[in-house]
Amino acid sequence: MLTDLAAACRKSGLTVVELPGWQTRSRPTLSGGFSPSGVLCHHTGGASDSREYVDWMATVGRSDLPAPLCQLSLGRNGTVYVCAAGRANHGGTARATGPMPAGDANYLYVGIEAMNTGSEGWTATQYDAYVRLCAALCEHYGWPASHVRAHRETSVTGKWDPGLLDMDRFRTDIANAIAQEDDMTPAEYQKLADAQTAKILEAVTNQGEKTRARQIKTASRIVATIKRNGKATQDDIAALEEALAE
Ligand SMILES: [Zn+2]
Repeated sequence: MLTDLAAACRKSGLTVVELPGWQTRSRPTLSGGFSPSGVLCHHTGGASDSREYVDWMATVGRSDLPAPLCQLSLGRNGTVYVCAAGRANHGGTARATGPMPAGDANYLYVGIEAMNTGSEGWTATQYDAYVRLCAALCEHYGWPASHVRAHRETSVTGKWDPGLLDMDRFRTDIANAIAQEDDMTPAEYQKLADAQTAKILEAVTNQGEKTRARQIKTASRIVATIKRNGKATQDDIAALEEALAE
């Protein structure tokens, strides 16, 4: 459960509305797990832009698709609604896209339902808010902008959302927003990510023959995570040091 989701969203500087009970709202465990490493972007497909509609997505859902239908919703005026801390029904089966693997999209991604028909276009207000929200999530959870994907990029059933959103431009804007937050240029940010990854790889390699098979296995798993995330967190480095010190 992402019980820090509202705090993460507030880093965007946007207005954040927490729906009652969001901290414990989730699909039942039997339906699958939830351990996201990216953001999946949707549009609702309708003209609705009301608190009632958000409540419906969070607590009712469709007869064939029970709520919650997303973790977050984004209004046309840039308001962020926090709907659920746990697993939601938004992504179905995912194919691999960019650095993200194929699998259960509801396990892999935090789902954002932006209130937009998909064919109306994106006002500067809503576009900017979408960028800032995704950047805040990436920043908070340590994901690179490349982990932000469109439902149309993961869908195996021909979904086209979010309509009229150029994902390459969107991800570039998110990367710039993250870098700005860090007071670093995108190039500097990439350099730091590369340096962190290189440091970890070197630490693993230097263990050489002394390293027992189990240590290598544990370290490799951590390195794989770092590669997937595009950068190493302090936790990754601590976990790696611990694994190698065993
Ligand atoms: Zn969708």
